[in-house]
Amino acid sequence: MMDKNRMLRNQQMKFMIYNFIAFTLIFTIFGIIILSQVQNTLYTKADEEMQNYKNRNVNLTPRDSFPPEPRDRDRKMSFNPRMIILHWNETGEIMNQAQIGTQFYENLIDGLQMDEQDLDVIKHLNFNNLYNFRTISYLNDYEDDIYITQLLVNVDAEETVIDNFETILIFCTVIFILLSITASYVLSRKTMKPIMISWSKQVEFVENASHELRTPLTIIQNKLELLLTKPNEKIVDRFENIALSLSETRRLNKLTTDLLTLARADSTETQFVKKSIDIDVLIEQACVPYVEIAESQDKSLWMQLDSKMQLEADASRIHQLLVIILDNALKYTSKNDSIGIKTSYEDHRIVIEISDTGIGIREENVRHIFDRFYREDQARTREKGGFGLGLSIAQWIVSGHQGTIKALQNENKGTTFVIKLPK
Ligand code: ADP
Repeated sequence: MMDKNRMLRNQQMKFMIYNFIAFTLIFTIFGIIILSQVQNTLYTKADEEMQNYKNRNVNLTPRDSFPPEPRDRDRKMSFNPRMIILHWNETGEIMNQAQIGTQFYENLIDGLQMDEQDLDVIKHLNFNNLYNFRTISYLNDYEDDIYITQLLVNVDAEETVIDNFETILIFCTVIFILLSITASYVLSRKTMKPIMISWSKQVEFVENASHELRTPLTIIQNKLELLLTKPNEKIVDRFENIALSLSETRRLNKLTTDLLTLARADSTETQFVKKSIDIDVLIEQACVPYVEIAESQDKSLWMQLDSKMQLEADASRIHQLLVIILDNALKYTSKNDSIGIKTSYEDHRIVIEISDTGIGIREENVRHIFDRFYREDQARTREKGGFGLGLSIAQWIVSGHQGTIKALQNENKGTTFVIKLPK
């Protein structure tokens, strides 16, 4: 039990870590994508402005051609107060320093070098960790003396937006990651819960099954050993021992068949083979042997079959279901009791009621009778050959047909099982 719990807890821990990693990865990737997307869109405007300006000027007619007007006109059109235009000569000096203004020049451009390498490529520049610019340099061959023209657009506003956005994004991501720890924990518990329940059910099932198997085996072993101590005796003289061994073997046979049915039900290996059946006819056939048995036990069995319906169902499983309920009805009734089967049709469902006037089930036990290995009275049912598996199988068959089964106490005496199967 200790080991089992530790194992399950480890498993839950693993689930939690996996969930957490998945959440963190998703949030981080999400954040990175959003941030780069925002960065791109914000710089796009500045980049486009520079590209436009550059394209217009580069595509101009060469410097000596006539008329020169288009150049001026285009220049005017592309004037942009945000944009700084620097003209470099071949020796790397800024030629239009006067136009730019001394203050600006001294503060920012001082120290800026002519960039001959990455021509025609937009780059990001940062001056003194304070001012941010997008910039592009290109060869200028339509104006005298100018070697390279460099365009600069200040993007400090964009930079501030991105910085703020980055802070918010990091903050949110951290919060979400923290929340995801809680979510991972809750989710892992939720995932493990059904596993834990079915695990302990399975363990219980195996324990009960082994226990039930041991009793008949011990009895058979004892009886056989007893027979071996007197090898010369005749079978007639040892009749009782042999008969008992045989009846225990039958019990074992029944038990193993039931266990197998339930094991298959768990693994959902057994499929129901459904075809159209006439439910009244099926019930009538199933009851034939029971009418005789009831008579021989001074009980009466009556039928009132009025469903008159065809049902899509697995005939042999429905037969098995009836046998389980009828066996019980016979087991838990005595002389002069009666057992009745009634069918009807209501609300698109076929209703089968099997009632008896037997010993009944105590109110507080009704909710347990469909549990595996549950018997109301261990000693009494052992005599009668029950293992407490019959009704579990019955329930499995009914739910395999999307139906319901309920046990009700009769008003005066006995039990009624109500089975409803959707048409
Ligand atoms: P069992 O093999 O013990 O009959 P079941 O699963 O068929 O196992 O039934 C579980 C328990 O339900 C029985 O042990 C019995 O106590 C109770 N039970 C089932 N059917 C009836 C009935 N017709 N009348 C009274 N008790 C019943």
